[in-house]
This record gives sequence, C-alpha cells and structure tokens, in this order.
Amino acid sequence: MFYSSTRNNDTKVASADAIIKGLAPDRGLYTPVSIPVLTATEIDVIKSGSYKDAAKLIFAKYLTDFSEKQIAVCVDSAYGDSFEEVAPLYQLNDQASVLELWHGPTCAFKDVALQVLPYLMTTAIDITGEKNDIAIIVATSGDTGKAALEGFKDVAGTKIIVMYPSEGVSAVQKQQMVTQEGDNVSVIAINGNFDDAQTAAKNIFTDDVLNATLLAKGIKLSSANSINWGRLLPQIVYYVKSSIDLGGADYVVPTGNFGNILAAYFAKMMGAPVKKLVCASNQNNVLTEFIKTGVYDRRREFFKTLSPSMDILISSNLERLIYELSGHDGLLVEKLMRDLEEMEAYTVPEDIKAKIDELFYAACADDAETEDAIKRCYDEFGYLIDTHTAVAYDAYKKYIKDCVTEKVVIVSTASPYKFPIGVGDALGMDVDKSEYKILTDLEALTKVKIPAPLVGLEHKKVLHEIACNKEEILQTITELL
Ligand SMILES: *Cc1c(COP(=O)(O)O)cnc(C)c1O
Repeated sequence: MFYSSTRNNDTKVASADAIIKGLAPDRGLYTPVSIPVLTATEIDVIKSGSYKDAAKLIFAKYLTDFSEKQIAVCVDSAYGDSFEEVAPLYQLNDQASVLELWHGPTCAFKDVALQVLPYLMTTAIDITGEKNDIAIIVATSGDTGKAALEGFKDVAGTKIIVMYPSEGVSAVQKQQMVTQEGDNVSVIAINGNFDDAQTAAKNIFTDDVLNATLLAKGIKLSSANSINWGRLLPQIVYYVKSSIDLGGADYVVPTGNFGNILAAYFAKMMGAPVKKLVCASNQNNVLTEFIKTGVYDRRREFFKTLSPSMDILISSNLERLIYELSGHDGLLVEKLMRDLEEMEAYTVPEDIKAKIDELFYAACADDAETEDAIKRCYDEFGYLIDTHTAVAYDAYKKYIKDCVTEKVVIVSTASPYKFPIGVGDALGMDVDKSEYKILTDLEALTKVKIPAPLVGLEHKKVLHEIACNKEEILQTITELL
C-alpha cells in the first residue's frame, strides 16, 4: 500500500513515511492510493472476533510495510489497560444506538486514535531507520491536545508541543492540558481560535528554513492532528466493527475537522455496512451548507459554542474526501485549496456534488437546540450525553423526520462530564459556579459516575503557563525546540 498527496498523485510514500511526515511537502494530505475491500470471510472474522482483532486485521491492510507482529504490539499496547472498552454500543431503542467512544484516558474519542498513534510512530521510526527525534506539533480545539499529550508523554525519541486557543476550550479541557506531566511535553495558549492554531501548524510543517534549522539539530517535525493518516486509520476500525455487529446502520457523526466522519466513509468503501453518513455541525455550519450546496464558504462569523471541539471553519479532512470523490484528481484538489486560501471559498464540480448527495445528509444545531437535545435524550431515555453528542442527537431527530431509516448509530465523542456547563444548564441546574462543582452536582442529580480521569483534576498542579499571540507562534515553537 502506498500513500499519495491529495495535491499531487506523483508523490507516493509507504505508510511509515506518511505517518512520520504527517503532512505532504506540498501541503496535501497523504491518502491511500486505493481502498482495500474486506472479503466475506474477513467480515465473518470481524463479526466473531474482538475489537483488537478487528484493529489488527484492518491495520494490516493499510500498513503493509509493518510486520504482523509489529501491528499486534501497537494494537495490544494501545487498547490494553487504558480502556475499559474501546467502542461499546448503548442501545436507546429499536432504531437508535449510541457508539460511546470516550472510555479512554482523556474522556474524548480522540483517545481511540491517539493512544495508538505513538506506537505507530515509534514503529515507523524503526522501520525507516529514522535517526532524528520527532517533534509532534499539535493544534487543538480542546480534546486532541490532551489526548496527544497523554499518548506521547515520555515516549522515547519524541517531543510534543500542543497549541490551544486560550478562550476556546472548557475549564476542564484547559486544566487537563496545563497539568500534563512528562519530560517531553509543552503546552502553549494562543490568543486566537482553532483555525489560527491549525494554520500556524501547517505553516510550520512547510517552512523550509525552520525545517532545515531543526534538522541540523537532529529534529524532524510531525503532526498528531487528523491530517496524519495514523490518526484516521484507527478510527476506521470502530465503524467497520460496529456496523458489522449491527448488520448495517446509518451513522450520525458530530463533525469539526471532518476526520471522524471521513473514517466512516473509508469503512463504507471497504465494504462494511455503513449506510448514510449524517454530518452534524454546530452553529459553525460551514459543512452543512457545503453538503447541501457544494459550495464551501468560510466567509462567515466564527461562533464560540457549547460544543467547542467543533468550532472550526476550515475542515482539513474534506480535502481527502474531494480527492476520493474526484477519482484522485490532485490538480483539482490543488486548485480548490488555492481558492480556499485566496478567496476563502470554493465550489466542487457537479459530479462530485452528485456523489456527496448519495453519501451524505447534513444538519446543524445551535446552542439552544443542543441543550434541548440533551434534555430530551435524558428525559426520554435517562441517558446523559455531552454537548457534541447532543449536536448529533439533534441531527438524528432531523434526519428521521426527513428520511426513511432502519438503524441509526449516534456517534458519541465525549463524556458528558467534559462539558459540564452546557450539560448542567440543559438539565436546568444552576451553573453559575465552578465547572468542578457542576461536575459533582451533575453526578448527584443523574447518578452517572464521574469518569476517574476527571476526579480531583482541579487540585492538580499547573505545569504549563506559556501564552502567545498568533503572530508569535513560530518564534515560540522555535525557542521551545
Ligand atoms: C474532535 C472532536 C469532534 C470533531 O471531530 P472531527 O474528526 O474533527 O470532525 C467532535 N466531538 C468531540 C468531543 C471532539 O473532541
């Protein structure tokens, strides 16, 4: 299996290279040259096997330069003690189930990929004989940062620097990051939003002068954002496994950077019974409009919402979808991404729009609808969901009004305790107090236990206090390295 850049089909690398590099030199995203299809026997094996077995089978199809033993070590190490269960399904009724992806160490779905990525990265370093240290630069809207820090802390041969928007994350998310322990970790607060942080990260990866300077010091840069194929691949597994277990379903995915829902697309193309893909957005509904019209237009107000991990206007992984739907037309992708940079908008050709119509449904929820969804779900099922999952729940309700469906999976991306203000407010609690007090109030009200990683978080020692403006990011990171 080889990976080509979405902006140039001639750039082809093996998976170990794609994972170490993160982003292609032309700023494109590494994407498999073809999608491997599961045989009927493999589908049976996945149905009767464990989550880890499914992960090993699926990884082997994409990481053909890794040995079977190397893949087994990566999967067994990542999905051992750090998860009670990786992706359990909770059935709401005959039609709807919730795929709970937040049973990892940081209580958000990013753990599923970021617990395994460091193992994939260190194995890739072994395979390629890479001699330099790898410095992982991460832009986060809140959850990736902590999950990446947990995954990479004290991993030999790596350093990790996380940038988060100082006013764009919840108090719990911030405290999780600034209290991170580990000898190879740094955390920077950016005066800006997620898009500023993500753009700065992409600029850093493609800054030739900086990269040459770092290389002279024995440091190579890489990414743990979902632009890295090593982030996408682990997410394909839970779509393949759950859809086979259920015998087919539509999936509603709360979406920001388009990574999670893209993994569902890959699962579908592999032959798993993933049916319609419902893209759920918050008030930053650039994707809802794109899926409905074929026009991607980021010239709009940026809203800070109750679902901050989806407060994104530049959804990077959409580039991979367009590459796929255009039959790997690197020139077209290059042109559209240039339009996005220069005019802040682009329009996809008719044939791609037609394919999007077949594959996707889109809906969005503002904060009032989000809170209403939390309340309705709790009242009807006694089931507590977080604000991001609530955006998906609202989209599910809109979807079943519009379309006929048998089974639907609502993808749940965070524990409700990660976003206590929105959840507490939705249930009519007094939320004019510290987030930590709301946590215990919520537990008392709902009898749902606070996940262990969030207990006592407020008493942890703050270890990271660096802050900078978006213009100073490059300099700050250079100094840290
Ligand atoms: C990151 C995140 C999302 C969005 O996922 P994408 O892959 O960026 O689309 C949704 N919900 C939560 C809780 C997240 O952390």
